[in-house]
Amino acid sequence: LENNEFTVYLQPKVDINSEIPVGCEALVRWISPEKGFIAPGDFIPLFEKNGFVTEVDFFVLEQVCRMLRRRMDEGLPVFPVNVNQSRLHVNDRMYLSMLQDMLNKYNIPMNMVVFEITESAFIEDSKTMVGLINKMKALGFSFSMDDFGSGYSSLSSLNVMHFDTIKLDKSLIDYIGDRNGEKLLLHITQLLQSFGMTITAEGVETSDQVEFLKNLHCDDIQGYYFSKPLPVNEFEDFVRKHTGL
Ligand code: C2E
Ligand code: CA
Ligand code: CA
Repeated sequence: LENNEFTVYLQPKVDINSEIPVGCEALVRWISPEKGFIAPGDFIPLFEKNGFVTEVDFFVLEQVCRMLRRRMDEGLPVFPVNVNQSRLHVNDRMYLSMLQDMLNKYNIPMNMVVFEITESAFIEDSKTMVGLINKMKALGFSFSMDDFGSGYSSLSSLNVMHFDTIKLDKSLIDYIGDRNGEKLLLHITQLLQSFGMTITAEGVETSDQVEFLKNLHCDDIQGYYFSKPLPVNEFEDFVRKHTGL
């Protein structure tokens, strides 16, 4: 972090019907002078072990706040940005006030940042996690449950807290084309929709998947079919090209 070796990429999220960008997800990248480009899958698990991930998360959040502030100052439209939050924050009593301080520092409206928490975080210590999320919701923060369907889907947690958005994991999207898998997807989306949750499908790679998800009335889509995660300037070009803004 001190050597500025981390950077933030943004992956567009598009509305399923209009295919217009409606938001994005911030994904960290480590560009090391010795080792070159290192994917988060290769360092986030290590940083989860040694605790450094919490600093990385705040670095990403600050970069996102800076970008949103710059766009607002330039009179450009802004859109909600999803940031990933490690489960480790739950142990930090200062976490909530640090989040609030960061948004205040850049004067960012609360609905412009959506906090993604992976479903597996609700398995280990679900009571503490549910407590934290409910507290944050009361303060006005927005949430998305990430990787839904990738592991032990915490169905009971859907009942005790309200997520604004659920992100269907790529492993579920990959069921498309398989008869039983498609049935499962149909019923999962119907369940989530009956709770009034917005559904984002993640890891969408083909037009067949897009068509199937349209029929399920999913709300938005993120995946290589539309765009890979991009450096901020390329992401802004993408938005300009697809919205004219
Ligand atoms: P994630 O949060 O589930 O992010 C989505 C991952 O899927 C990203 O991988 C993205 O590049 C990839 N992806 C998106 N669309 C497609 C697609 O169509 N096909 C395929 N095959 N992959 C797709 P990435 O950027 O390598 O990140 C991996 C994981 O690292 C993330 O998974 C997240 O768990 C973690 N991560 C990334 N940035 C951060 C961060 O700032 N903080 C924390 N705590 N974790 C992060
Ligand atoms: Ca995520
Ligand atoms: Ca995910």
